[in-house]
Amino acid sequence: MGIVTDIKLLKNRRTKILATLGPSSDSADVIKQLIEAGANVFRLNMSHGEHATHANTYKLVRDIADELGKPIAILADLCGPKIRTGRFKGGQITLTNGESVTVTTRDVEGKPGLIPSQYEALANDVKPGNRILLNDGNLELNVEAIDGTEITCTVVYGGILKNNKGINLPGVNVSAPSLTDKDRDDAQFALGLGVDFLALSFVRCAADINDLKLIVSEADANVNIIAKIEKPEALEDVDSILDAADGIMVARGDLGVELKPEQVPVAQSQLIDRARHKFKPVIVATQMLESMIENARPTRAEVTDIAYAVTLGADAVMLSAESAAGSFPVESVEMMDRILRQTEAYLWQSGDYDSGLNTSNMVPVPIWEAMANASNGLARDLMARALIVISQGGMSAATVSSARPAAPVVAISNQLSTCRKMAIMWSVLPVLVEDDDMGNHKDLTKRISKELHLASPGDTVLLVKGFHKDPELNCPSVTVVTV
Ligand code: PEP
Repeated sequence: MGIVTDIKLLKNRRTKILATLGPSSDSADVIKQLIEAGANVFRLNMSHGEHATHANTYKLVRDIADELGKPIAILADLCGPKIRTGRFKGGQITLTNGESVTVTTRDVEGKPGLIPSQYEALANDVKPGNRILLNDGNLELNVEAIDGTEITCTVVYGGILKNNKGINLPGVNVSAPSLTDKDRDDAQFALGLGVDFLALSFVRCAADINDLKLIVSEADANVNIIAKIEKPEALEDVDSILDAADGIMVARGDLGVELKPEQVPVAQSQLIDRARHKFKPVIVATQMLESMIENARPTRAEVTDIAYAVTLGADAVMLSAESAAGSFPVESVEMMDRILRQTEAYLWQSGDYDSGLNTSNMVPVPIWEAMANASNGLARDLMARALIVISQGGMSAATVSSARPAAPVVAISNQLSTCRKMAIMWSVLPVLVEDDDMGNHKDLTKRISKELHLASPGDTVLLVKGFHKDPELNCPSVTVVTV
């Protein structure tokens, strides 16, 4: 038998798309095209741009999403303690292999042989023998000696170094707090706008998330927190981070600088698994279609990378500069959508969905995991056309989605904010209904199944509901409903 590549696509895409907005895409016209091309969540990156620009973009997204009737979510990404170089006379310097250079924390303009950084504790944090990586790890210095504010280094891998490039310190305990003054200010601003998600960069432990939660509770805001996993320390503490946060992002840009590149796919695979076991959404981010910043078509390796994230069961994949600053923002979302659909169709056809959560037979699994697997198995055995989930706060939807069932997951809520938050979850199609509709769940299930053309009279769908954080209120149930 030959290899079949012409696969019938599924009606609903399971893996969600996050697109970062920026100068290439923060206009009404492009945002509309991005939504129509399949973007589910937009990211406002607080590392770049002014508050006024972000506020304008936020309003455009909300207005256009309302106009199109789509539950589009907005995520504000806080920069965290990203260490950067300062500015150079002429905008850049050249580093030559073997040359001696000084990194200084004095507030000066850089020049050949002198690299300023505004991170004051840098000279205290590093020791002789440490590596200082610059510009996404493309340039490397070795620390030779430290004297007050001056760090003498030898250039290991040289090249051109421009203004404000990132500095990474692999293996160094960075003493900067995870939540900087700028993050606090950006968080207040984003909460004031009403974003659905706040992402925190360079999270090291659960306490970092709890610090952000304090700001959220002081603002009395309804927002979900995404922990960006990009430090080796976070990998050590990932279970507590997952407990504290509402989801994680595999932030492969910085993670790939802090770890060896070959360790990133291994970390990615395990992070997706851990997140699924905690019923928390997981986003795979960075360089997914990097070449499409400049070219209309991606490399074959990029396409395969996205397909790999789908195969691993990521809830969402993210575009960064491709949609924010590239020449082909809409084409990037369209391309991502096509890759996701093609891979999902193949997984479905080859029977690779329905994998459930991997459970060990040696210990009883938690009730949530058992119910997620049970509804998945029941849907498969009955060939149910859909899993209809009633979800007040998104918890039931997240639990059902975590088992990655083949049948589409429709999550019904009477809360718009919940619908937007569910936009990030694998396969979940959020449906907003009126309070009055929530009375009879069985009737509602039949009506929505028919309205979405998921089931015809006589077809089976499953009605799943009742998951709750509070064990006292947790009363999950699955009902078989014939439409
Ligand atoms: C990353 O480092 O992969 C990432 C997503 O963070 P940012 O885009 O904010 O650098």
